[in-house]
Amino acid sequence: DINRLTRLSEFAWRIEPVDGMRVPVIIYADEILLGEMDEKVREQAVNVTMLPGIVGACYAMPDAHWGYGFPIGGVAAFAPEQGGVVSAGGVGFDISCGVRTLHTGLKREQIDPLKKTLADALYATVPVGVGSRGHIRLDHAQMEEMLRGGAEWAVRQGYGRSEDLERIEERGRMAGAEPEAVSVHAKERQRPEMGTLGSGNHYLEIQEVGEIYDAAIAASFGLASGDVMVTIHCGSRGLGHQIGTDYLKRMQAAAVQHGIVLPDRELACAPIDSPVGRDYLGAMCAAINCALANRQIITHLTRRVFAEILPDARLDLLYDVSHNTCKVEEHLVHGRKRQVYVHRKGATRAFGPGHPDLPKAFRESGQPVLIGGSMGTASYILAGTASGETLSFASACHGAGRAMSRHQAVRTWGGREVVDELAARGIIVRSPSWRGVAEEAPGAYKDVHDVVIAADRAGLARLVAQVTPMACIKG
Ligand code: 5GP
Ligand code: MN
Ligand code: MN
Repeated sequence: DINRLTRLSEFAWRIEPVDGMRVPVIIYADEILLGEMDEKVREQAVNVTMLPGIVGACYAMPDAHWGYGFPIGGVAAFAPEQGGVVSAGGVGFDISCGVRTLHTGLKREQIDPLKKTLADALYATVPVGVGSRGHIRLDHAQMEEMLRGGAEWAVRQGYGRSEDLERIEERGRMAGAEPEAVSVHAKERQRPEMGTLGSGNHYLEIQEVGEIYDAAIAASFGLASGDVMVTIHCGSRGLGHQIGTDYLKRMQAAAVQHGIVLPDRELACAPIDSPVGRDYLGAMCAAINCALANRQIITHLTRRVFAEILPDARLDLLYDVSHNTCKVEEHLVHGRKRQVYVHRKGATRAFGPGHPDLPKAFRESGQPVLIGGSMGTASYILAGTASGETLSFASACHGAGRAMSRHQAVRTWGGREVVDELAARGIIVRSPSWRGVAEEAPGAYKDVHDVVIAADRAGLARLVAQVTPMACIKG
């Protein structure tokens, strides 16, 4: 019975492995967040535990909600030597969607008088919205190089600085990318979309650092109250979506061929060591590079805008983290270090202090974990913890999570009304779509503060600082 939850602590719940479950489900949330989580999260997490080769547990983060097959806010790791699988639905359609935060090096008082000018210039410079097109057109050879090179490629092309790379996961370039495993259609879709923000909840936001929760880590991240940051949230655009679509089909066939019993058709997957599994991983790594290159180009455009309006702005990269990936990592499984394929779908990697893959700057603090809230509420910066390793394969939440559907939001608010209300609070919103703004109304999201408190108290990541929106460019 999936309702049979055992309380492990104030912030952790467990469903015992019964009836075909290979491992337990563990949900991180307080009682209220758990109550707000749709039933589907538990059901979907239980289904995931039935997949071959899953190890440890299927984890749900405090912001978890219903998704395609796997819950959004779900983490699951698979071992190849146990017949482990890879699943396109376990990564999500916006492969390597993620967040990067830059430090302007300026204070609120310096930005405030120019906030409108900046918002207008950013909106004019960074292409946003459904089907928005960028100025870069890659030919076939350049596309292959971008898919192999990620942000490293982008920096070589003159988009950004080489010191940015140190502060991007995988140092800006995901190894293992196989552009040949990406369909021609996916590459065609991507051709006009390099350096575009996209639509929906993707955003470019000017934010002020508010409350500080951990003074030492905040200082080591270079954060002080009143500092102004820029945060960019977007992913792999048309390329990632097309790869997801292409491989979902191939995985449905592969699952049948390999005799994998799927508790839900949407959990289509293929053994890691199978042609479809290997191809997907190669294509997914290429999509990760596409997302990293994309955020790098948008960073370059952002710096160009600031250079004209506020030439003193530094815009140094704090960190770039993805929250839709499958990555090969070493983790403790039953006390033994093993290589596993960690799916994080709407979950942020959160490596703790001392992790060998972190740049020196974060070896003592743990990595920055960047959590979006909404355009009308705070967002948060956390840090990876040592405890996260055993709690969740070093993963944390990725946002507030929706409290209501997009449909419901549009019925509840008008876009103009939302923009006016935010303007009255000093938050400037620029978007090509009133409907999009209504869908993303702050009230459509759960209380992000409760979510990050749950992540902190559960030990997944440590609260470091709050940031509040000043201006938001919204897709
Ligand atoms: P997702 O990756 O699932 O598309 O979205 C991640 C999170 O971003 C959402 O759960 C939400 O909390 C947050 N978010 C959505 N829109 C905005 C926005 O305009 N500004 C900020 N700061 N966060 C947002
Ligand atoms: Mn996305
Ligand atoms: Mn995202």
